[in-house]
Order: sequence, then C-alpha cells, then structure tokens
Amino acid sequence: MDREVKKLIEAERGRQSKTINLIASENYVSKNVSAALGSVFVNKYAEGYPKARYYAGNEIVDALEELAGKRARKLFALSSSRWDVNVQPYSGSPANLAVLHALLPEGSKVMAMALGMGGHLTHGSKVSVTGRLWEQVPYGVDRLSEEIDYGELLHIALIERPNMIIAGGSAYSRVVDFKKMRMIADEVKALLFVDMSHFAGLVAGKAYPSPFPYADIVTTTTHKTLRGPRSAIIFSKKEYTPAVRKAVFPGLQGGPHMNQIAAVAVALAEAATPSFSRYANQVIKNAQALSEELHRLGWRIVSGGTDSHLFLVDVMSRGFSGGVAGDRLEKIGVVLNKNMIPFDERKPSDPSGIRIGTAAVTTRGMKEKEMKAIARIVSQGILKKDVADAKKTVDALCEKYPLR
Ligand SMILES: *Cc1c(COP(=O)(O)O)cnc(C)c1O
Repeated sequence: MDREVKKLIEAERGRQSKTINLIASENYVSKNVSAALGSVFVNKYAEGYPKARYYAGNEIVDALEELAGKRARKLFALSSSRWDVNVQPYSGSPANLAVLHALLPEGSKVMAMALGMGGHLTHGSKVSVTGRLWEQVPYGVDRLSEEIDYGELLHIALIERPNMIIAGGSAYSRVVDFKKMRMIADEVKALLFVDMSHFAGLVAGKAYPSPFPYADIVTTTTHKTLRGPRSAIIFSKKEYTPAVRKAVFPGLQGGPHMNQIAAVAVALAEAATPSFSRYANQVIKNAQALSEELHRLGWRIVSGGTDSHLFLVDVMSRGFSGGVAGDRLEKIGVVLNKNMIPFDERKPSDPSGIRIGTAAVTTRGMKEKEMKAIARIVSQGILKKDVADAKKTVDALCEKYPLR
C-alpha cells in the first residue's frame, strides 16, 4: 500500500483505539462494512436508477441497489406499496437538500428547530444554502423544561403557515412526539419531514419511537447510531417519490457511490439482528448512566437528562466554556464536541456547552459501570483535578475495550 497513506491510517487507528470517543455522531463500523466499502463496486459508474441507467454493465449493481432498498424497508417495517427508499444520497446534507429541492418551491417556508436549539444546518439555517433558498421559521425548546413545547409550536405554525415542518435535529436529547408534530402539520396543511439521522439506529433497535407512522418523508444518515458507512437514505411516501428521485438524480448528483451502497446494505442487515437491538437499548442506558453520574458530580445536564444516545452539559454553569472543556478533555484522550445550549448567550465558536454521545463507547462493549468511570474522567478533566489519574483510567478502559 501507499507508504505515506498507510502510515497515516495506522496513526489514525492508534488514535482511535487510544481515545474515549464521546462524539455523538460517530461510531465504529464492522469489518464487513469496511470490506464492502473497499470492494470492487468502487470502480462502477451507475448514473440513473435500477433498470434505467445511462451506462452498460449494471446488472449486478442493480441487484445491489435493490437489495439495499429491500433491507431498509424491512428494517423499518415499511410496505413497498406505501414507501419508496432512495439509497443514492452521498451523505445527510445532500439528502436533505434533495428533499427540500423536490418538495418545497424556492422561497417558501420551512419550519425547523433552530441550529442553536439543537437543529441541523441543513434545516434552513442562514449559513447553509438551504437558508438561502428557503425561509426558515425557527422553533426551539421551552426555557424552563428545555424540551419542545408543542403548544408553542402550533402557535408559531398557525401564524407563519409553513409549507413544511421538520422534526429531528443534532443535539436534542429527548423523544420527539411525532404524533403531535403530525397534528400540527395537518393543522396548517404542511408536509412533515423527519430527519432521523441521529437516532435511526435507536429506531432500528426499537429503543426509540418510529417516525414512520406519521411522517411524509424521512431521511437518515447511515453512519451515526445506525453504525454503517458515511451515507444517507431518503424514505418517501409514494406520492412524493417521483419528485425525490428526480431531485437526487439528475437534480443534485451524478453517479451513486455503489461501494457505499454495498456497505449500507451490510449495515442494514446487521441492524436487523437481536444483538443490534440489545446494542441500541444499551446505548440509551449508557447515556442515562453517564448523564446521571455527571449530574451527581455537580454538572448541569440540559433538560435534566436524556431519552436517547446523547445529551448536552452546560459547562458554563461552572465557569468553563465548551471550547475550554473540549480542549482539556482532548488532552487526556477524551474526544467530544463543544455545542450551543438552548438560549446560549455565547457564540457558536465558543459556546456554553458540550455534547456527549454513547454510540461509539457502547460499540466497544462498555456498560453502565464504565459510564460512571467516564463521568468521573470527564469531570476531572474539565476541572483539571487528578488529571494523571484520569488519563490512566482512559488508557485502562481503551485497553480493556479494544476496537473491533
Ligand atoms: C449529521 C446530520 C446531517 C448531515 O449529515 P452529513 O452526512 O454530515 O452531511 C443531517 N441532519 C442531521 C439531523 C444530522 O445529525
């Protein structure tokens, strides 16, 4: 192999294996997912869709793309007469852009959780192209409970009359009430689009409610809790499918990445197993154990806890910015990200919070007991207290729970 790149791959493997990864959007894929990603499918161009391609030699990739779609429908218990699956988006951001491009006339209103409240850039944020082409009507959380206030949401929707409502975000730890979101969408005749990128693996493992009984469109990345390669899937109810298909190709993309689709197919089958369901449930138990222990150690947890794989810690409540906390933790081998908290008075480049997720450490096999140890490490690391001891615990945990 290329020697320079091989050296970097080995260095990255070393870094990953010696680090406690609390980045809520990361995970570790299986060897089988990696093998599919590095397979000969990387050589194939397949612009178009199965049985309607622009190049020759597509018999096998057609079977692959259909297999991936079939597995996705099976995983989320979707009937093929009502739901279409598009596995071609290159990643979550282009998938979301495709959905908006397909279903929202330019300039119309999309109601979505504000970025600073836990939403995602691609939901119409100003710095994203989605915020230039469409007008975001932002919603947030209640100041006291720090949970979504559905009454307030309805109130905003009735005034603003958005064409689409987006549920799901990147830093909201609680269960989203999809039924209430549907009722609000119906009230103003808006489409309901659920972006389940973060919690798709939890839905697959039946550890978090499914949005499918209520949504018109669902997107997901495949590399977060779902534990697949970096990619995305769009699920659309049949009446929206032709527009979505055209928006993905030729609207926004050229040839699909068939090696990525092969790896997605592998991940979807893995996610359908009983052991994955145990994994998904453990991810949530771990997030709850970690947040409870941090709370016990004196840290303020946004909304007081979590129903998912992630939560936010208000580190400013003890005088540390998210940036400072993140840098201190990286020094002892714990990685996570700084994050805005609801009603944050600081700027996004150095906000008041950190985001913690348990998808990756749970893949390594850690359970509640290790979460308590990690909570102590995090606390010591930020406070710069017994740092040598904390670093030793990091090394011991990484050794005991190796990468697969
Ligand atoms: C991660 C994420 C995305 C974007 O995915 P990329 O693959 O990074 O483009 C979109 N929406 C949500 C809610 C996400 O969490």
